[in-house]
Amino acid sequence: MEQYDTIIIGGGPAGLTAGLYTSRAGLKSLLLERGIPGGQMVNAALVENYPGFPEGISGSDLGSLMHRQAVRYGLEVVTAEVKGISQGNPQPYSIATTAGNFEATAIIIAAGSEYRKLGVAGEEKFSGRGVSYCATCDGFFFRNRDVAVVGGGDTAITDALELGQHANKVYIIHRRGQLRAGEVLQQRAFANPKLEFIWSTVIEEALGEQILSGLKLRNVETGQQSILKVDGVFIAVGSMPNSRNFSNILELDDAGCVIANETMTTSTPGIFAAGDIRRNSPRQISVAVGDGAAAAMSALKYIQEQGNRFMNT
Ligand SMILES: Cc1cc2nc3c(=O)[nH]c(=O)nc-3n(C[C@H](O)[C@H](O)[C@H](O)COP(=O)(O)OP(=O)(O)OC[C@H]3O[C@@H](n4cnc5c(N)ncnc54)[C@H](O)[C@@H]3O)c2cc1C
Repeated sequence: MEQYDTIIIGGGPAGLTAGLYTSRAGLKSLLLERGIPGGQMVNAALVENYPGFPEGISGSDLGSLMHRQAVRYGLEVVTAEVKGISQGNPQPYSIATTAGNFEATAIIIAAGSEYRKLGVAGEEKFSGRGVSYCATCDGFFFRNRDVAVVGGGDTAITDALELGQHANKVYIIHRRGQLRAGEVLQQRAFANPKLEFIWSTVIEEALGEQILSGLKLRNVETGQQSILKVDGVFIAVGSMPNSRNFSNILELDDAGCVIANETMTTSTPGIFAAGDIRRNSPRQISVAVGDGAAAAMSALKYIQEQGNRFMNT
């Protein structure tokens, strides 16, 4: 069985940064990614808030650049889905994947998360063309436009308030008759003249030709259908961390996010977590990159303390 100092799970910005740091530090490092390296950001048409690119950069170009830089220093990348982690021999951890088993002294989990989808017609077609899951990422593209936010929790209301700073009008579409968001957020939302609530209503379809132009709505109490003209819709109905395959070995919070401290150290010795999968992550590329660097430095320290290194040179 192939043995490594560090195995990184997930090839998004957190994992690629971790791989850059560990391989450049001379650790024998492997990154396991089930899809294309780059992570979620490969779906971002334009990233304008990642420093170093004053004109912005497409998410897929940014992902390719990060990948190229990470492998330059000896990081191995294998396309495989990680199915589970267990006790290894002689290394502390054995990782079962669709490409076989690997062993490592330290593991960095950077498997990210996935936004929960509504599952309605047109949602996928207009994703990145009016349908968004991240107000911080895409809100600026809707300056002086009419937009909608779907959801009634803290994220939805925070998104609506943030969008209110750019947009002309923000509709909040909620399937219930009252919000779940905290009291202070609710008060701010009700006091904001740009925000308008559409209660007890669900989206049935995202409408448009090339880009989103409106939403087909249905009132869940009366059954009445209507069309709402908007240029953008922000879906804020939760996200799912990709942590289910690690729940046997890591402490997770109620939402399934990995609990880790500011050095990305989890409650399991030698396992570190970085990026969107981490509890309280602001879910931004720049934060994932910082997390990846911090996790790699913690893994390096841990491996040095263990005294066993395979070195990649
Ligand atoms: C459409 C869109 C636009 C965005 N725009 C911006 C933006 O403009 N600015 C910004 O800062 N942020 C943006 N974000 C958010 C940003 O992309 C994320 O915060 C960031 O990618 C998180 O990085 P990560 O490395 O933690 O996780 P991810 O990017 O989610 O990467 C995790 C990787 O792990 C892999 N993986 C998961 N489970 C396994 C497993 N079991 N085995 C192997 N591999 C696994 C996944 O395939 C994925 O590639 C956007 C997100 C989306 C979806």
